[in-house]
Amino acid sequence: MFLELFGGVACLDFANTVDGRATAQPEELLHSYADLSAWSAYAGLIDAGTAARLDHRGTDADLRTAIELREAVFTVFAAVGRGQPVPAAALGRLQTDYAEAMAHARLTPGEIAYGWQFTGDDPRRAWWPVAVSAVRLLTDGPLDRVKACAAEAGCIGLFLDTSKNRSRRWCTMDGCGVDAKIQRQTSRRQAARQA
Ligand SMILES: [Zn+2]
Repeated sequence: MFLELFGGVACLDFANTVDGRATAQPEELLHSYADLSAWSAYAGLIDAGTAARLDHRGTDADLRTAIELREAVFTVFAAVGRGQPVPAAALGRLQTDYAEAMAHARLTPGEIAYGWQFTGDDPRRAWWPVAVSAVRLLTDGPLDRVKACAAEAGCIGLFLDTSKNRSRRWCTMDGCGVDAKIQRQTSRRQAARQA
């Protein structure tokens, strides 16, 4: 149902829940609050039991809030990836949503250190970890590894390029990577024919 999580970090994976943003037919993957909580569980941000409980409480308004956050995440990191100034409104939105999320987070002991955890059945819990992830990426980086898929068809999926020589260009090798390879071969064949 959902795309492969190729973003490398929760906030970018969430931004990618619109497939093919700049194509003629972008595909929205979140149509209901249930889709949102299912995605959040799929991405490992909440467990399946929590997702099932949240489903009973989440509304269309909660979904709209999450989608506004998602679009702000996309705007901010698409700008970061292109080396452009980050629009203030989108940045402000991340800041607001992060502050709201942290107001509900609890310090909880982990194996080696304390961490921030969300508990309870507030429907906003489905996207709180995304707001935290986005601000953490902005404050801690590595921002120079944020990239948008280079597919000419207009995928613009966002990801963290963790490859050693920073050479990753596509969201997925078996998706846009394959398409690009086919395109290269086709144009090479056409060039050979014209020669
Ligand atoms: Zn792509």
